[in-house]
Amino acid sequence: ILVAAQHGQPASALHQPMRVAGKLVDNDRRIEVYNPYTNALLGTIAKATVEDVRSVFHQAKTYKSTLTRYQRNQILLRASQLLREHADIISDLITAESGLCKKDTMYEVGRACDVFLFAANQALVDDGQVFSCDLTPHGKQRKVFTLREPLLGAISAITPFNHPLNQVAHKVAPSIATNNRMVLKPSEKTPFSALLLADILYEAGLPPEMFSVITGDPREIADEMLINADMDLVTFTGGVQIGKYIAGKAVYKRQVLELGGNDPLIVMEDADLEEATTLAVSGSYKNSGQRCTAVKRMIVHEAVADEFVRLLTEKTKAIKYGNPMNGNTDMGTVIDEAAAISFEQKVNDAIKCGAQLIVGNIREGALYSPTVLDHVPYDCTLVAEETFGPVSPVIRCRDIDDAIRISNSTPYGLSSAVCTNRLDYITRFVAELEVGTVNVREVPGYRLELTPFGGIKDSGLGYKEGVLEAMKSFCNTKTYSLPWD
Ligand code: NAD
Repeated sequence: ILVAAQHGQPASALHQPMRVAGKLVDNDRRIEVYNPYTNALLGTIAKATVEDVRSVFHQAKTYKSTLTRYQRNQILLRASQLLREHADIISDLITAESGLCKKDTMYEVGRACDVFLFAANQALVDDGQVFSCDLTPHGKQRKVFTLREPLLGAISAITPFNHPLNQVAHKVAPSIATNNRMVLKPSEKTPFSALLLADILYEAGLPPEMFSVITGDPREIADEMLINADMDLVTFTGGVQIGKYIAGKAVYKRQVLELGGNDPLIVMEDADLEEATTLAVSGSYKNSGQRCTAVKRMIVHEAVADEFVRLLTEKTKAIKYGNPMNGNTDMGTVIDEAAAISFEQKVNDAIKCGAQLIVGNIREGALYSPTVLDHVPYDCTLVAEETFGPVSPVIRCRDIDDAIRISNSTPYGLSSAVCTNRLDYITRFVAELEVGTVNVREVPGYRLELTPFGGIKDSGLGYKEGVLEAMKSFCNTKTYSLPWD
């Protein structure tokens, strides 16, 4: 894909077969992928059969990696370097398949570089533990040691459309760092960056059996990704509905489920409103509002809500949205027209429930304008469910009890942001918000690619991602003990 792009062809112009243990594997069935902004056919991908999936998992399980920590470190560093060298072309490809603007996709490539860098560093760290056994009266002169080993079977990875490269990086980099073998199925809406990443990893020296990318229609092949006998763990990032389906289907497989969010930005009466509205705008519209940790609800103290809405509206109007390939564009399209229509409908429903539309709710194909609503009832569908698009619904609250109650009123529990300098407020938010993360004076999406990340309630089972935690989930811990006289 890179070579095609370097020769001036759109990186995905050609049909792209699957990448199976380094080989190009194809069949005569096709899925078409369209550019959400131009509606042009971007390219086609192979549509795997269940038999294809079985064969890939079998090859993955059969291979046992012998890479040393140093070799894994070098491959991961090289991958990070290759991504950085080709950042512009890769970001063009992500923009073409997702409609995300160049500012967003250049940022995404940078994040993926960080993921590989952190995984390279962690590959060098032996986090084994040692326990002395003479700790109690009946203790012995022995020591117990722990050792992390790769899984016996392969890892099954399934990723969403919203960060086509970085979601895949977050699965595969920890897999390589721990010497595992992974079979990935990217979103059929944005498959090209995942195929490209496989090429980059092979180029970086990865033994090809350690990573395969299969493409297909989830209605045909997803179940096999969840129950295949050669697979030990499924790591899934996507919506709640499919996540819960996986939880029931992938019986006696380890499951890492990173699901949807409905993250609040809570603004208290003492907040710096310039800062709060800057965070609101970037949290709401970056990546066209399609981040699991995007700001999806703004819970604002009634004493400052008028001024907050005024500043938010001013900053929203300044967002340039449109052609995602234009370097000056702040926001491109959402993933497809159907998604844009669903936001329009939810906003119209909220207006019927008493919300006031301040700006936006304009749609043209998959382009949906940044939209501000005030006086949104906390329980209308727009904010009670996840709205995965560039909408800023302001919910007014009376005090901190009200803010916490509203924040905790949805089934989600991914992340949150709180704008206040009062330590008494901050300690209550940290203690009482039912979420995986509380960011004070930062967007809910703020994180290092290394740090633990993930939600509770309907947002996830509590197993975290982030390079460090993913490496732990991808290993079996073995203990061994020795005499220690
Ligand atoms: P989705 O759930 O529709 O699809 C995700 C993946 O699941 C795709 O690859 C799809 O092909 C596959 N899939 C479809 N049916 C399946 C089945 N029956 N079994 C297994 N896999 C199946 O999600 P999406 O629309 O691509 O992404 C948006 C969602 O992802 C949002 O809800 C967002 O919040 C969530 N998300 C969560 C995180 C997180 O880390 N918590 C990060 C990014 C996105």
